Amino acid sequence: MVFLGVDIGSSATKLIAIDKDYNIAGRSVVQLGTGTAGVERAVQQFYESSGIRRDEIGWITVTGYGRSQFGEANNQISEISCHARGMVFLKPSVRTVIDIGGQDIKVIKVDAKGGIVSFTMNDKCAAGTGRFIDVMSKVLDVPIGELGDYDAKSDAALTISNTCTVFAESEVISKLSSGNSIPNIVAGIHQSVARRVAGLAFRNGMEKEVALTGGVARNSGMVRALSKELKYDIVIPDDPQVTGALGAAIFAREKFSAETT
Ligand code: ADP
Repeated sequence: MVFLGVDIGSSATKLIAIDKDYNIAGRSVVQLGTGTAGVERAVQQFYESSGIRRDEIGWITVTGYGRSQFGEANNQISEISCHARGMVFLKPSVRTVIDIGGQDIKVIKVDAKGGIVSFTMNDKCAAGTGRFIDVMSKVLDVPIGELGDYDAKSDAALTISNTCTVFAESEVISKLSSGNSIPNIVAGIHQSVARRVAGLAFRNGMEKEVALTGGVARNSGMVRALSKELKYDIVIPDDPQVTGALGAAIFAREKFSAETT
């Protein structure tokens, strides 16, 4: 018997299954989110890669922006609770979880059990989110997975002064056409996002240890820039994009036990 967590985000769909001993039994990630074929594709990929059958799944908990669209789930839980729970499961000493996804930033203070102490979110603007970075990666023609390597080659981050994605996009194009190096522009983009995230984190207050979850944590340039702005070392899970799905799977495991005992 396994327990499935499904995280349907704005940019990506993530599935994690755990067994009764909390070992990972299956995983899939498709970089397409709610309202797309991503959900169906991620579910299919999950069954194919794990070999798990539908009748072996005891409980399904769904989370994420698109959670209400997934009719197969037994229950829904907010992504704030799932990221908190998933991260503290992976590293119990974490007390602040910063989740940067495709369309929002969340700063969550957590207790030793992964419960929420307080949280704050950005407004509905793309600045400081994965979406901002995705737009800039297209303008620069650098794949999202290579931004970290470009950032590592920078000798001086260029200041991107516009926070609005549309204006920042024009600014990046103009910096490109003035002959600035791509690594320095990439480092400037990361610095701009990191400042935005740090501003939110300082407003909420942070306690050590601080962890970064969500797809943007896969970008080593963003991790470097954020550590510099926060002046903290940041804990990064091995597979940061699935932290919310893992939290959902843990809730599924517990919900199943509660309902069947
Ligand atoms: P959501 O839950 O909102 O769908 P995720 O936590 O899945 O968001 O993160 C999506 C973001 O992760 C994308 O906007 C993208 O910027 C970033 N991302 C995805 N894959 C990579 C990668 N290989 N390297 C760097 N960043 C990535």
